[in-house]
Amino acid sequence: MGSESTTGDNIFTCHQCGDCCRGFGGTYVTARDIIHISAYIHFNAEQFAARYCEKSGSRYVLACGNDGCCIFFDKERQCTIHPVKPYMCKAWPFIKTLIRNPENWSSMADSCPGIKKDISEDALKKIVRLEKEKLDRSIQK
Ligand code: SF4
Ligand code: SF4
Repeated sequence: MGSESTTGDNIFTCHQCGDCCRGFGGTYVTARDIIHISAYIHFNAEQFAARYCEKSGSRYVLACGNDGCCIFFDKERQCTIHPVKPYMCKAWPFIKTLIRNPENWSSMADSCPGIKKDISEDALKKIVRLEKEKLDRSIQK
């Protein structure tokens, strides 16, 4: 298979291991995420931010539980807010910073068993752009 025909599905398959919810890096929540997650768990936005978020600079990240996992992670059910999980979680692993720094793909693969490393940087950047467009279209519906 040449790089030109490679798609997101060819280089990533989630194994549902939950490792990405065990706190390797903060999970940022956008203003839109806060609105959707708050509504889903029947909190208002202020209550949600106070109870489930922490500040990282000027932005909010989801807090971790005592087990070091994302506060919304459950061993049995995995992500308990799956339908409204943050944009960052929906986008993973096709995060837009890869367009600027495609070399990070390899270190991401070391933490995520679903990522295949064998992809050129140019092909990866193209896939990330396409996957981002696809995600953005889907959440505008
Ligand atoms: S670490 Fe990767 S393979 Fe495991 S649940 Fe997260 S995205 Fe899926
Ligand atoms: S919101 Fe869900 S998918 Fe995202 S880190 Fe938390 S448990 Fe994992």
